[in-house]
Amino acid sequence: MENILILPGDGIGPEVMGEVRRVIDWFGTQRGFDVSLDEDLVGGCAYDAHGAAISDAAMEKAMAADAVLLGAVGGPKWDNVAYAARPEAGLLRLRADLELFANLRPAICFSALADASSLKRDLVEGLDIMIVRELTGGVYFGEPRGITDLGNGQRRGVNTQVYETYEIERIARVAGDIAMKRDRRLASAEKRNVMESGLLWNEEVTRIVSAEFPDLALEHVLADNCAMQLVRNPKQYDVLVTDNLFGDILSDVAAMLTGSLGMLPSASLGAPDAETGRARALYEPVHGSAPDIAGEGKANPIASIMSFAMALKYTFDRADDADLLERAVMHVLDAGFRTGDIMQPDMKAVGTSGMGDAVLAALNELGK
Ligand code: NAD
Repeated sequence: MENILILPGDGIGPEVMGEVRRVIDWFGTQRGFDVSLDEDLVGGCAYDAHGAAISDAAMEKAMAADAVLLGAVGGPKWDNVAYAARPEAGLLRLRADLELFANLRPAICFSALADASSLKRDLVEGLDIMIVRELTGGVYFGEPRGITDLGNGQRRGVNTQVYETYEIERIARVAGDIAMKRDRRLASAEKRNVMESGLLWNEEVTRIVSAEFPDLALEHVLADNCAMQLVRNPKQYDVLVTDNLFGDILSDVAAMLTGSLGMLPSASLGAPDAETGRARALYEPVHGSAPDIAGEGKANPIASIMSFAMALKYTFDRADDADLLERAVMHVLDAGFRTGDIMQPDMKAVGTSGMGDAVLAALNELGK
């Protein structure tokens, strides 16, 4: 039996994760997905209950789970909480303790929503890119770092961009595996022209791909050019691998191409277990806790539902079920169901549970 830990978190987290639970139950009863679900606290609610953004007991459950599904954390209520106990610290601890070094952010533009993009329909319709971002290294973690007083009225801020071979190798392998399951095209973005860490990145990615993924077409692109290409002709990319800093920026650029925050899923993966081959994994929507609409039943649950689709594919090896769930979401959008964030003229307005109902109805129809 599989084992999933659900961490709904704060704000709209519990609302959207409620719909994910219904979808998981459907796969249990209709498709034989044998899973045991557990639930715990993360973020502000965990701070209120335990004084920490995630308790040791919840961390233990996360370490033992096959997959963790997270809603969102944070909100104005916890703005003045001490830095170490702030809601985001729960997320950071999960990422660090589970050693989640690969962040997968698909940017998919559903035909029904192409007009919501800031780009023209023909540039984004049918867009399906996977951005693989290195998550635990690079300039956000490199030492030395800090602000020092130079004593002459000046201060110096320092961060260090640093990558070692093993860090590049393992992210290149994750990206290579994904690209082999897709269109067998991989682009790698860095700044080899001005950064030694970029040069190393370029060389190590080339080495891993030629040794382990000889059937992949590998292209190197400078990260600044990549940003331009993503808004000029995004469909030229299939899988894009890049470091922590560039990935932060490029994945947000790609996200905007698709229209709405309420639609974007993500996955963070660790190294595959030596015995089972299964990687530790956390799945979560890209959006935050949306305090402005929390508790109103208005939130779009699709980003969280699509995150579960990623879990079906990347953790549970159920690509057919993932595909069914993605088709169900597409069907619902084609049928005109819209939450407020993706509302268009003449469409059917629904709330969080209405969208969940529509996805379940589509699953019943398509999954026969
Ligand atoms: P946000 O993503 O929560 O909201 C931005 C805007 O998008 C809001 O208007 C919100 O109503 C809307 N929105 C977001 N998700 C939606 C959905 N599923 N359906 C409909 N509308 C949706 O970002 P923010 O307002 O900058 O941050 C709010 C809180 O969330 C802050 O405390 C922030 O720190 C936290 N946050 C958490 C995460 C996370 O848990 N991973 C990520 C980003 C922000």
